[in-house]
Amino acid sequence: MTDLERIRHSCAHVLATAILKIWPEAQFAAGPPVENGFYYDVELPHRISPEDFARIEEEMKREVKANHVFERVELSRDEAIAMAQRGELAALSPRGEASKFKLDIVKNIPDGEVITLFRNGGFTDLCAGPHVMRTGNIGAFKLTHVASAYYKGDENNPQLQRIYGTAFKNKTEMQAYFDMLEEAKKRDHRKLGAEMGLFAMDPEFVGPGLPLWLPKGTAIVEELEKLAKETEFAAGYVRVRTPHLAREKMYQTSGHLPYYAESMFPPMELSEEGADQPADKYYLKAMNCPHHHRIFAAEQHSYRDLPLRLAEYGCCYRYEQSGELFGLMRVRSLNMNDAHIYCTEEQFAEEFRAVNEMYLKYFSIFGLGKYQMRFSTHDPAKLGQKFVDEPALWKKTEDMVRQVLVESGITFVEVPNEAAFYGPKIDVQVWSAIGREFTIATNQVDFAVPSKFGLVYRDRDNTEKTPLCIHRAPLGTHERFIGFLIEHYAGNFPLWLAPDQVRVITIGTDEALVNYAKEIHRELRAHEVRADLDLSNDPVKAKIADAEKSKVHTMLVIGNRDLEAGVVSLRVHGKGNLGAKPKAEAVAEIIAEIRDRRLE
Ligand SMILES: [Zn+2]
Ligand SMILES: [Zn+2]
Repeated sequence: MTDLERIRHSCAHVLATAILKIWPEAQFAAGPPVENGFYYDVELPHRISPEDFARIEEEMKREVKANHVFERVELSRDEAIAMAQRGELAALSPRGEASKFKLDIVKNIPDGEVITLFRNGGFTDLCAGPHVMRTGNIGAFKLTHVASAYYKGDENNPQLQRIYGTAFKNKTEMQAYFDMLEEAKKRDHRKLGAEMGLFAMDPEFVGPGLPLWLPKGTAIVEELEKLAKETEFAAGYVRVRTPHLAREKMYQTSGHLPYYAESMFPPMELSEEGADQPADKYYLKAMNCPHHHRIFAAEQHSYRDLPLRLAEYGCCYRYEQSGELFGLMRVRSLNMNDAHIYCTEEQFAEEFRAVNEMYLKYFSIFGLGKYQMRFSTHDPAKLGQKFVDEPALWKKTEDMVRQVLVESGITFVEVPNEAAFYGPKIDVQVWSAIGREFTIATNQVDFAVPSKFGLVYRDRDNTEKTPLCIHRAPLGTHERFIGFLIEHYAGNFPLWLAPDQVRVITIGTDEALVNYAKEIHRELRAHEVRADLDLSNDPVKAKIADAEKSKVHTMLVIGNRDLEAGVVSLRVHGKGNLGAKPKAEAVAEIIAEIRDRRLE
């Protein structure tokens, strides 16, 4: 947990304390930190609404002001169960009825895991921690909204009220956050996406969470793919293509089934061998890795073939709960900037370094000045349970990753106990131009799955060895990344990404002028510039206003005098008139600016 997450999660305890002071019958389930804040799930007959917030916050303030210590107590499973049965967990005092959700949670804690309570003032909760030292360390907080959620996300379970809030080190940071949210509303990718005609949702015919990329959005998608393909080609990747589905066996082998089944679309059943044979199950892929592993397995490899870097913009499908869907940020179909690098242990550090450099290169292209890597490592106490039992390999890869991060000067935070099952993981967080944080990509080391799939290469000494695999997706998914870019640029994309790059606008409709406009337009199109023409009879002011409204990046305005002088008047969206330029020079500059993917 980061410091901020610690503050926020601690604030969830304070929230529960306050709710119990007002409604002693409240039953609590889970209260984790989340992106931008925290929540606590509560069962309560009274429907909490924003009108109750002031009252709850008053009680919370009292708890913070009292500056209670967060006291940690270890106890046995039997003791914890007994306390839950007496209603003493997530409670101020026994209340004559069991702490039913906490009872269920205690019973499901794996054997051998330490069970702890945390106390702040009169409130006792079952929790693994960590927390801040004292309630007074919570500098500023605010309740934000209420949603509903089923216990453990299962609709057969009771429906709970999810109370959301946020917390910060101090009031200034909290105010900056709410100011940023105001600005973010104006830049909302759903609003701008619709205004600019980038994508559409069609829940009735296509389905919820399955975005349609309209022509203008597709222009951005294709620019990103072009960038990725060029960059990956230069870095020695090879491209592959794989189907969108695979048989059940694939996902049993990868381990997605049964553990990840909830996040996958239900299978399609197919009988090919006749009615007496059991039906075959096919699943839409939720990740590209297994297909890439089968590509590795499709040919024999020697150490000379490594590193093998397989890249694909692969389309995956994930079943997100309908309540979780959100514009392009949470969707059910995702096009991922995916690649899997199969390498030897000796090659690992160099490969990982190169992947990192690729991230940095992208950050500079998109003008992302603030980013951070979140390096999740394993917990040696949980080898063989939460983490694959390869202590030497964990230590070695984590040391290498840490060293690369330090040497590259990237700011990173190290988070123990949050690695993936099969290896350390790096989440890449970036901040948009208005300071909002996004997790756009992960970069993972995998030393378990290649062996599950039986992937081997023949080494120098003629023995078979299992390669390591690096999963990486610097541009994340088109959906999430473009959603992020819309906000980052407020829809004003740099020329190379702008859906409408250039519009040639005439002042008047004289035949010679129209021909001059068409000639410029043709020349730009011949260089694959997304240019269009406005030859209408409307006043030029109206034509310019229309282009500005559509966020056309560059306008070439021409009248009879420009025609005679062989020049164009250059206008850039949001910057106004930049003066006249010889036609050939203006065209050459546009082409160069696109080619170099300049930010301005
Ligand atoms: Zn806690
Ligand atoms: Zn992967």
